[in-house]
Amino acid sequence: MDTKTEPAYIVYETPEEGIARIVLNRPETANAQDTQFLYELNDAFDRAAHDEAIRVIILAANGKHFSSGHDLAEQGAQANTHNYDTVGTMCGFTCAGAEAQMSREEEIYVGFSERWRNIPKPTIAAIQGKCIAGGLMLAWPCDLIIATDDATFSDPTVSFGVGGVEYFHHFWEVGARKAKEMLFTSDDLSAADALRLGMVNQIVPRAELEQATLAMARKISSKSRFALKMAKKAINGAQDAQGRELAMQNAFHLHQLAHTHWLKLYDFLIDPTGLPEGTRKALGLKD
Ligand code: ZN
Repeated sequence: MDTKTEPAYIVYETPEEGIARIVLNRPETANAQDTQFLYELNDAFDRAAHDEAIRVIILAANGKHFSSGHDLAEQGAQANTHNYDTVGTMCGFTCAGAEAQMSREEEIYVGFSERWRNIPKPTIAAIQGKCIAGGLMLAWPCDLIIATDDATFSDPTVSFGVGGVEYFHHFWEVGARKAKEMLFTSDDLSAADALRLGMVNQIVPRAELEQATLAMARKISSKSRFALKMAKKAINGAQDAQGRELAMQNAFHLHQLAHTHWLKLYDFLIDPTGLPEGTRKALGLKD
């Protein structure tokens, strides 16, 4: 792996034959994602993808919440993305202006999420508690989602002056009308609404999440590996035939415009006035 050390934030398990379970393990920050966290997660997905013995991949999380999103303590382009061996063809991680930030986000945000979406093996996300903003960018690339009945999903980025997270999949997950409501209001989408809208496959009590996810993985792992690969490619291809990739690129570029806008105004990637006072103080931002 790139960092040449044992992963600090990600646990890789094989709970049953043919099943890999990748566990987000930074519960003290509600699994906030920084650069190292995402490279470790990508390494784990690669490991499961490349291991011929693995037929189904589970993405789970330790702690009360699935993920609180990107770690705001890490300052975008100033972060150390360029210290890692990049997995895409993007360059310019140390360039001036908006270029480094855009390169970074193209690699570790939309790039990683697309990469995980296209792994030619079934993936299942197990979600408990809150799944906020960048958290959606780990859950949505998975083929199936099983959530606890107290899980909530939100993208509050409009409150911080940005039109949505980098992996702009809202429309494909909940439809245009509900996607607009999620974005315009920053409100939580409940597990029950997510189930009704087809964004999650199953809701279970928290105590049953692990077993329900394993049961689903077990059922899928008994099927033809090749047929599963073709089924996944066909469904993903249907979304892409609807213009998904182009629509996502458009949203990503608007997202970069938002970062540049707030950097010019506040020297910060997002509108700091939209952050809670405690967060502003913790980040050392002036009022
Ligand atoms: Zn961004």
